[in-house]
Amino acid sequence: MFGAVHSLRQRRAMSRLLCQICAGPADRNGDGVLWLLTDHRDEWDDWPEKMAVDEPPACVPCVGLATRLCPALRSSSIVVRVRECPVVGVRGRVHKPGGLLPVPTDEDVMSFDDRRIRWTLASSLLRGLSGCTVVQADELA
Ligand SMILES: [Zn+2]
Repeated sequence: MFGAVHSLRQRRAMSRLLCQICAGPADRNGDGVLWLLTDHRDEWDDWPEKMAVDEPPACVPCVGLATRLCPALRSSSIVVRVRECPVVGVRGRVHKPGGLLPVPTDEDVMSFDDRRIRWTLASSLLRGLSGCTVVQADELA
């Protein structure tokens, strides 16, 4: 169930920079922490620079495994080293006041200074990526 990410495991992996596949330490070297992402370089020139992600980082052995087994990554993936990746916000279900109980509205992403965050049931933690360098998968071995 590749698309159904366990919320607690996601937040644990993201907050501790653990591999999103095996939960071991994510790979890190002088160029930064290793990230395996679906490739969206066609969206803007220096993608994924300044992007917020809810996919935790990865370790080297799991990059090959995930790109073979995950349908989304099999069709389009990119490996990136990220120098800075602070926790910047959450993805979650926003609620609004309504009678006795809050009423769920849309799911959205938001920074910690967004006033809607008090009405949000977070499902994942986001990190902002900067200092990104694309890595060829065969350079990882
Ligand atoms: Zn791993």
